[in-house]
Amino acid sequence: MEKLSIVIPVLNEQETINIFFETLEKISAKIPQYEFEYWFIDDGSTDTTIKILEELHQSFPNVHFIEFSRNFGKESAIYAGLQHSTGKFVILMDVDLQDPPELIPEMLRTIESGDFDSVGTKRISRDKKHRILNFFSSYFYAIINKISNTHIVEGARDYRIMTRQMVDSILSMQEYNRFSKGLFSWVGFKQKYIEYENINRVAGKTSWSVWSLIKYSIEGIVSFSQAPLMLSFFMGFISFFIALIFIIILFVRHFIDPGAAINGWTSMVVILLMVSGVQLLSLGIIGRYISNIYLEVKKRPIYLARKIK
Ligand code: UDP
Ligand code: MG
Repeated sequence: MEKLSIVIPVLNEQETINIFFETLEKISAKIPQYEFEYWFIDDGSTDTTIKILEELHQSFPNVHFIEFSRNFGKESAIYAGLQHSTGKFVILMDVDLQDPPELIPEMLRTIESGDFDSVGTKRISRDKKHRILNFFSSYFYAIINKISNTHIVEGARDYRIMTRQMVDSILSMQEYNRFSKGLFSWVGFKQKYIEYENINRVAGKTSWSVWSLIKYSIEGIVSFSQAPLMLSFFMGFISFFIALIFIIILFVRHFIDPGAAINGWTSMVVILLMVSGVQLLSLGIIGRYISNIYLEVKKRPIYLARKIK
C-alpha cells in the first residue's frame, strides 16, 4: 500500500479538527489503495486544539502532530509538515474544509498519471462579504505578476498535492521569509490547477485580519520582486532630470533679466515636500529589503517544536 501524507496547519481550530478528520476518513475509505498519514501542525494555539490532537493521536496511530512552541505563522507550519511527511504524495490543506476534500480522488488520479508533479487548486469565486478586500486582492495579483519573474496564480490556494520530489525541492529552499504561493511556483515542475467555487468555513473563524493580509502582500512582493528598488532609482532619475532643466532655465533667465526677484514661496514648499517625500519613500523601500536580509542572515530556525508525535 502506498502512503499519502496530509499536512494540515492549525491555529485555534478546536471546532473544526474533528469535523475535518471525519470527512477525510470517509474519503480515505473510498481510496483503499492509499494509507493516509496525517500531520497536524499546531501553530501555537491557545484553545483546546492540542488536547484534541493528543486524543486523535492516541486513538489513531496514523495521526501525528507537531506542537509549535509559539505561533510561527502558517508558512512555517507548512514547512514543518512537509519536513515530517513520509508519503509518496503529500497533500497540503486547511482544516476548515474550505479546501474541498472531494477533490482528492481527482487530484490523486492526475498526479498518478505521471504527467504532473503537482496539482494545485484555485478559487474562481470569492467570499461575497469582502468586496473591498477582493478588489484589492485582484490588484495585488496584477501588480505582483507585472513586476515579478515568478508567476503567482490568482486565486490559488495552498491546497495542493505534490510528489516527493517537489516536496524535497520546496524544503531545499531554506529561506526564513517564506511566501508559499511564490515558492510553489518558483520551483517549476509540471503543475496543474483545478478550479472550484468558494466555500465558507464549516466552523470557527479565520485568523487573518486586514492588516495581516496587507503585510502578507508586501512580504510577497519583497520576496519575489526587486522592482520596488528600481522604482526609487527611477524616481531619483526623474527628479534629477527636472532639476537639471530648472537649473538651465534659471541660468538663462539670469542673463536675460539679471535683476529679477525669484518669488514663489508655494512652489518652494511643494518642491521641498515632494523631494523629501521621494527620499523617505525610497529609504522605506530599501529598509524593507534590508529588514528581510537582516532576518535571513540571522539564520534563526523556521520553527521550534515543543512536541512531535
Ligand atoms: N493557520 C495557521 N497559522 C496561522 C494562521 C492560520 O496555521 O498563523 C491555519 C488555520 O488554522 C487554517 C489555515 O491556516 O487551517 C488557513 O487559515 P484561515 O482559514 O484562517 O485562512 P483563510 O481560509 O481565511 O485564508
Ligand atoms: Mg479558511
